[in-house]
Amino acid sequence: MTLDSDSIKWLKSRFGNTVTFDEPMSKHTSLRVGGPAQAFVAPENIEALKALVKWSWHKKIPYLILGNGTNLLVKDSGISGVVIVLTQCLTAISQTDRNSHGIIVTAMAGAPMKTLCSFALKRGLEGMNFALGIPGTVGGGIMMNAGTSYGSMEGVLQSINILLTTGEVHNIKKQYLDFTYRKLSWNKEDIGSHPGQQVILDGCFRLTLSDPDKLKKDAQKILETRWQTQPKGLPSAGCFFKNPVSGKTAGELIEMAGLKGKSMGGAKISTKHANFILNHHNACAADFLKLMKLVEETVLKKFNINLEREVKVVGS
Ligand SMILES: Cc1cc2nc3c(=O)[nH]c(=O)nc-3n(C[C@H](O)[C@H](O)[C@H](O)COP(=O)(O)OP(=O)(O)OC[C@H]3O[C@@H](n4cnc5c(N)ncnc54)[C@H](O)[C@@H]3O)c2cc1C
Repeated sequence: MTLDSDSIKWLKSRFGNTVTFDEPMSKHTSLRVGGPAQAFVAPENIEALKALVKWSWHKKIPYLILGNGTNLLVKDSGISGVVIVLTQCLTAISQTDRNSHGIIVTAMAGAPMKTLCSFALKRGLEGMNFALGIPGTVGGGIMMNAGTSYGSMEGVLQSINILLTTGEVHNIKKQYLDFTYRKLSWNKEDIGSHPGQQVILDGCFRLTLSDPDKLKKDAQKILETRWQTQPKGLPSAGCFFKNPVSGKTAGELIEMAGLKGKSMGGAKISTKHANFILNHHNACAADFLKLMKLVEETVLKKFNINLEREVKVVGS
């Protein structure tokens, strides 16, 4: 689908220099690949975001919400419709409540996860250390139920506010959120007839007061271990595949399949951690897709295991 001239006119008049057209997604993804987005908008405030979501939905123009693009493989053909990036408008983090159960911190979706971790560390609040070193935004982290061996968003998230395609905001409490491994969902029927991609606006996190010095020491250890075990310096999207529910990890299976170090074009399976696929040398999305298929087919053939992707492949 292409944007018609009226749509382009409306976008230009409403969003001025915060909209660009044919914007290369390789500039906005950590893999550094991906063709152009027809329109790329960075709303400057929540009212602009609401107007854009309502308009896109009304005009049946597909839209993709983007955090920092650290879990996305965008195809070379690019993205039809509108990409909406939240990092320019939803960035605040504040302590919003304190009760007998802990301290409530509200973080907006476009804030960097790193900033939320530092916010907690500086105030001696325990609960966010698990996320140290996870790149991306709070919204992306919530949507992906991001986590590590130390925990995941599920452990601290109390509620979220989402934006419906009507422009209304709806609060969803933890008991109505369905957390699974690297995925968050909620029952769309509970919020009435509001189809379309809903936008996470913010999340409330329950943290607890702790010893700041101990928290900082723990943080340092967590980060050191991370840097020792993960490849550094080349573009990636972190772990490409989800670990199977039991048995070997995805990285171990890929290594046992003899694929460590394997490359296709400019994409290469890391020799340090086989679940990382790196942009080794000017890769395009097609190189990643070929290597991804090779991994999936080889692991299925050798071990009869279907690896599920953690990285989201998007694009027309
Ligand atoms: C070097 C490296 C290490 C990594 N390590 C980890 C790790 O240890 N643990 C881990 O879990 N992940 C890890 N990741 C993956 C990635 O960083 C996380 O999944 C991260 O939470 C994604 O955030 P993002 O803002 O980049 O999301 P994006 O990649 O921009 O988006 C991810 C998905 O969420 C959707 N989305 C984003 N924001 C919103 C919103 N506000 N509302 C609705 N939908 C939204 C997008 O449409 C997309 O489907 C790593 C990635 C890299 C590059």
